Amino acid sequence: MESDQWGGYISPETFEYSKKLKNKDLGENTIVLRKSKEFIEDIDRDIVKTEYFVLMGNKFKQQNKNWIKSLMAEFAIEYIDEHKCLPPKTNIKKTYKTSVRLLYVVDKYDSFEMTIKKDMIGNKSLDDYFNGLQYVKSSSPKSVKGDGKSWEVKGSKGKVYVVKKIGDKWTCTCPSFIYRGGQCKHIIAKQAEV
Ligand SMILES: [Zn+2]
Repeated sequence: MESDQWGGYISPETFEYSKKLKNKDLGENTIVLRKSKEFIEDIDRDIVKTEYFVLMGNKFKQQNKNWIKSLMAEFAIEYIDEHKCLPPKTNIKKTYKTSVRLLYVVDKYDSFEMTIKKDMIGNKSLDDYFNGLQYVKSSSPKSVKGDGKSWEVKGSKGKVYVVKKIGDKWTCTCPSFIYRGGQCKHIIAKQAEV
């Protein structure tokens, strides 16, 4: 990449993102995010442009974001089938009748929505498929099985989040918990109460 460009590489097998390209990461389908600044006269400032490339047969081919999203959806299924959990930094965003939308958050600048349709998992029940996954840290509370306690907690901006305690595992539906994992302020506050 040239000096006024930056970006990183996503390994579709591990969903790991690295700013530096190590040779071992150069697998087929490695996804490249290339960022560059572009001056927009109308608003009199720079905006950051992101371009996407995929390593296909020793060549980096430019693709649009939707294409990348479908590729990642395929790799998400492979990951889930192999590891029986959601890929790192990936959560269930929304569940529909015939599809589930996952969100892979690369960092605070980039994220990818991946739609998993029923026919992509051999027409199995989406509920069974996703509910059967192991609980992974920073995944959404939907993937937590079993009974537990839950509380509605008001966030600082008035939004209501649900804090759950199942066994000794705590989850919250707030963005901080979902994207960063660990314990958010809502969990910490609840833990102090109970
Ligand atoms: Zn929270």
